Amino acid sequence: MTIRLFNTLTKTKDDFAPIDAANVRMYVCGPTVYDFAHIGNARPAIVFDVLYRLLRHEYGAGHVTYVRNITDVDDKINARALRDFPGLPLNQAIRNVTEKTEAQYHADVAALGCLAPTHEPRATDYIAQMVAIIEQLIARGHAYAAGGEVLFDIQSMPDYGALSRRNLDEQQAGARVAVDAHKKHPHDFVLWKLSDDNEPGWDSPWGRGRPGWHIECSAMSAAYLGTEFDIHGGGLDLIFPHHENEIAQSRCAHGTPVMAKTWMHNGFLQVEGEKMSKSLGNFLTISGLLADWPGEVLRFNMLKTHYRQPIDFTLAGLRESWKTLERWYDVAEPLANPAPDAAFLEALSDDLNTPAAIASLHQAEDVALAGGLGFLGFSNVQMKITRKPGVDIVAIAQAIEARLAARKAKNFAESDRIRDELLAQGIVLKDGPTGTTWEIKR
Ligand code: AMP
Ligand code: ZN
Repeated sequence: MTIRLFNTLTKTKDDFAPIDAANVRMYVCGPTVYDFAHIGNARPAIVFDVLYRLLRHEYGAGHVTYVRNITDVDDKINARALRDFPGLPLNQAIRNVTEKTEAQYHADVAALGCLAPTHEPRATDYIAQMVAIIEQLIARGHAYAAGGEVLFDIQSMPDYGALSRRNLDEQQAGARVAVDAHKKHPHDFVLWKLSDDNEPGWDSPWGRGRPGWHIECSAMSAAYLGTEFDIHGGGLDLIFPHHENEIAQSRCAHGTPVMAKTWMHNGFLQVEGEKMSKSLGNFLTISGLLADWPGEVLRFNMLKTHYRQPIDFTLAGLRESWKTLERWYDVAEPLANPAPDAAFLEALSDDLNTPAAIASLHQAEDVALAGGLGFLGFSNVQMKITRKPGVDIVAIAQAIEARLAARKAKNFAESDRIRDELLAQGIVLKDGPTGTTWEIKR
């Protein structure tokens, strides 16, 4: 079966042919671990998990290497460490932040049904490799030290900007970026910067400092996948500057024509028609959602939209996903050993068309339905726990929403009535900072 994937580099859907079918190699940019992951961050985790499963099916489980990194050095992490652990030595404070956040991320993505990647390297374990790449870039005339930084010289790379299709001259003319006097071009980006005592740092030929963001992924992907590999993924906000700059570093350091052959980017997720933001109060963390919704429902809801399309994440969509899954689980227990039918596999192989694959399950025989569900990473474990006899979870979610609407309209008689009606059914509501949850009255 031929897998076809849309490649951001060529802007076409191409037949996928691995460099080495015995070891298909994929890298996906992982989280920066300073805060709870939100439901938008769940999208690349779920999308590339489905691709991982498809590749394992096609090439064999032992013949696919999937690397997703952990970014554990970043100025946002420093700021969080100083804020949350002001009395502690900086290293300890940082470790507290990153270890807790990383553990939370692992719990989140496991609940969403994602397989663990083959390797999950942490950036701080690859500082030596980053330094080596930077030295190589300097030696080859692609980087320079200036103003307490080492910078990549974008004008030294003739096709810089090819992924995002940016033109260097246009950028220079239109650049609104404050031109740092020490830079040769306003878009020259940081490979290494010196640290002061309040910042984490490692010794290097340029003094005690820390890496820029982009260099991490060049170092970790090369360490596990080599200087040329098959697939590189992430959300579409990463195309520029992050992926463009990863390509520049890797290709110029290694003298290779490509870094990854296929570049894949998932579209963005918004919530109830709006961009998610803390100030709008629609910032949904994965762990917050998991208090109310089984991970399988969140996963299913995500896969109903094609990965390159924007998603509008709504409660109505979640409820519908819940109903569909519940109906399917009544007739088919997901199979660990996939036996999906041809229509299902064809849809998935066509640039990971999960909505078409799911649509095919509506017509499938029970066995093919069970196989399709198992293939997509559904297990019916969480729903079995959540589905307590006599409790209509969807109706409760609807009642909670109606109560919220009543409260917004300042109709407190109605909102109290809804709460009391639920209480009469043995359901206790709990209002918290992330929304309303419920439990069964003991
Ligand atoms: P970050 O920790 O912000 O670097 O994001 C981790 C991953 O989540 C990256 O692949 C981002 O592209 C992706 N991402 C962040 N926000 C969203 C969103 N709202 N929708 C989809 N993907 C997102
Ligand atoms: Zn990256």
